[in-house]
Amino acid sequence: MKEAYLYEKLDKERVRCFLCNHRCLIKAGDTGICGVRQNRSGTLYSLVYPKIIAQHVDPIEKKPLFHFLPGSRSYSIATVGCNFKCVFCQNADISQMPSDHHRIMGQDMSPEEIAGDASRSHSATISYTYTEPTVFFELALDTARHAVKKGVRNVFVTNGYMTEECLKEIYPDLHAANVDLKAFRDEFYKEQCGAKLKPVLNTLETMKKMGVWLEVTTLLIPGLNDGEEELKELARFLVQLDPNIPWHISRFHPTYHLTGVSSTPPRSIQRARRIGQEAGLRYVYSGNLPGDEGEKTFCHQCGELLIDRFGFSVQKYRIEKNRCPKCETEIPGVWGA
Ligand code: SF4
Repeated sequence: MKEAYLYEKLDKERVRCFLCNHRCLIKAGDTGICGVRQNRSGTLYSLVYPKIIAQHVDPIEKKPLFHFLPGSRSYSIATVGCNFKCVFCQNADISQMPSDHHRIMGQDMSPEEIAGDASRSHSATISYTYTEPTVFFELALDTARHAVKKGVRNVFVTNGYMTEECLKEIYPDLHAANVDLKAFRDEFYKEQCGAKLKPVLNTLETMKKMGVWLEVTTLLIPGLNDGEEELKELARFLVQLDPNIPWHISRFHPTYHLTGVSSTPPRSIQRARRIGQEAGLRYVYSGNLPGDEGEKTFCHQCGELLIDRFGFSVQKYRIEKNRCPKCETEIPGVWGA
């Protein structure tokens, strides 16, 4: 347990957390919406510091990040808890553990240990992922600072609901992010996730301005967020931000509280990819469709195959000095040796 960062004491009893855009007002004895930050006698504590619930070395493609150090390893960690209540959550057993089971579990691991372990595993990055890194921000920030000293970079896989204050704290040590843009309708965020759309759009804009390498993922759910007009609006928003932002459109499978909706038909993913490309996005990928053409990277200028992937595995890598080997156009991204 550790005293929380980014909150203010309002009086002897109440505090306001400004780590994420819920900006919870928390009375003594209560926790915020995420269930992992508790007001104990007027002081706010993180209950998940330093309780690691998941730890794996993953390919960076699994985050997914396709234009950031492809083929590299990413040491990936999570604690329990989330500030969203998505009915379709794929990791609900850990993300919703505090609210569904009133339990906080995990193995103690200090930021120094995590950074050391990441470096020994030859991981180029640490990813704060599986659940929402914002709600374990104290652990993520302390770890990120140790990681940088060891030459390991930091990646957030996030719902993008953190405040600007939170981003300002971490951004010098945050190198890349994959942000879920779950839909382009506020009703979806409200009804399916217990949140709002606008703060997520603000985060995307802020991260872009800060120079964090940014990729975006949308889990396409039949009948809920796959309308043609909605996808066009979403794609146009990304294009005006930067047409070089890779957009990952991922296939939904029934899970958690959303078992009455079928898996996304592959043709819907293809349609959404076309909408993204027609709007002007240069790199639009399919996710959860192993073997699909949409897993590969092609030069946006001449169409040359640059990176061949199967699932999370890089089969062929042809970018040379950040450029297409055929037409020599610079390819947006952060490329390794
Ligand atoms: S991080 Fe948790 S306590 Fe803080 S504002 Fe968000 S949901 Fe509320």
